Amino acid sequence: MHDILPVDMPVWNHLEDEYRMLVESYGYRQIRTPIVEKSALFARSIGEVTDIVEKEMYSFDDRNGDSLSLRPENTASVVRAGLQAGLLHDQQQRLWYYGPMFRHERPQKGRYRQFYQFGAETFGMSGADIEAELILLAARFWKRLGLQDIDLQINSLGSSECRQKFRKQLVEYFRDHHASLDEDSQRRLESNPLRILDSKNPDMQGLIEAAPALRDSLDAHSTDHFNELTDILDQTGVSYEINQRLVRGLDYYCHTVFEWVTESLGAQGTVCGGGRYDGLVEQLGGKANFAAGFSMGCERLVSMLIDQQLAPAPASCDVYLLMRGDNSVARAQQLAESIRDAMPGLILVVHAGAGSFKSQMRKADKSGARIAIILGEAELAAGTVAVKYLREQRDQVEIVQDEIVSRLASLLK
Ligand code: ATP
Ligand code: MG
Repeated sequence: MHDILPVDMPVWNHLEDEYRMLVESYGYRQIRTPIVEKSALFARSIGEVTDIVEKEMYSFDDRNGDSLSLRPENTASVVRAGLQAGLLHDQQQRLWYYGPMFRHERPQKGRYRQFYQFGAETFGMSGADIEAELILLAARFWKRLGLQDIDLQINSLGSSECRQKFRKQLVEYFRDHHASLDEDSQRRLESNPLRILDSKNPDMQGLIEAAPALRDSLDAHSTDHFNELTDILDQTGVSYEINQRLVRGLDYYCHTVFEWVTESLGAQGTVCGGGRYDGLVEQLGGKANFAAGFSMGCERLVSMLIDQQLAPAPASCDVYLLMRGDNSVARAQQLAESIRDAMPGLILVVHAGAGSFKSQMRKADKSGARIAIILGEAELAAGTVAVKYLREQRDQVEIVQDEIVSRLASLLK
């Protein structure tokens, strides 16, 4: 788990602001759910036999003996909350979220135990149109941020019947090659064979390449659905690659799945993953409803923004107000407050902690401020302040205190 230090906050805030503006402009509304949920929620939604539930959750018993977990992802929580608040019954919803997730993974670049995700979840829409919207939204996000080199991969898992059929074929195929399966895959063979295709083990890749292809198990309806998606993507100018091996780590997907991947981050190259997850709402106790969504890894996006030099410059102080003499402290605060009333966007730091004039000036300089406003004893007596330019060759100006508010904007020009 990592700290986000002040030096990195501007890029984080930029990312958050852009995401919020973008999703809201597509009509998505924010939802915030608690960071802890009953452990059973994740077992029921993500599935017992996933890495996440098997070995990555931070779970603990609370004082009542209930097993709770820090959320490893947010989709299950959004569905739980939506059901509880009656948002999912025979309705369409476009929702978005942002927040920290927790997985006990092996930490490495782009992989942390606490990480942030942006997400979007939609409910009540069965077609490829909403899947295309989610993809277009993400594409626009990369464009707005100026990010290069993020490519789209898509695949169809087909309806749940297709999945069943494919699952059978896959189990037969892998059974025939049982000896070549790694330990994880042997375990998954009966419980969650599709996940074997998702294996990152290099020794398994040959076997996976030769496995039956999902495409051959798709029924007519599933094929139509997928063609409709690729049609919209073609017509809106989004390029994509169809990746037959893309099955996504989580159990609840059907029909369309997609990932946005980049070569520029090394091994942890997926910045966004999503797809359709009809069935989850019912699985969590609601009336069946269509659902599709995605989530994005914020640390990976931050690191791309920094690498591609797209991180905004940190805001620096505009004005540093310093004073001399005990009597000037209250007057300085009073002046500062009236400036803040008039100029809410200004970054104005009022010196605190006394100190010699020289050391106050050093702090003013270090703050990055363009100007220092000086309230010395002489100025206090005369009802004025001195304005000193810290970065430009300009004369110091003497101003009547009552006029500082009206003149400051032009002094900063
Ligand atoms: P990966 O294949 O990288 O493990 P995943 O399939 O587990 O990803 P999802 O659960 O779909 O990931 O989460 C969506 C996105 O969240 C990922 O594409 C990635 O950008 C990010 N993400 C997932 N796990 C982590 C992590 N431990 N640290 C940082 N980001 C993560
Ligand atoms: Mg993972």
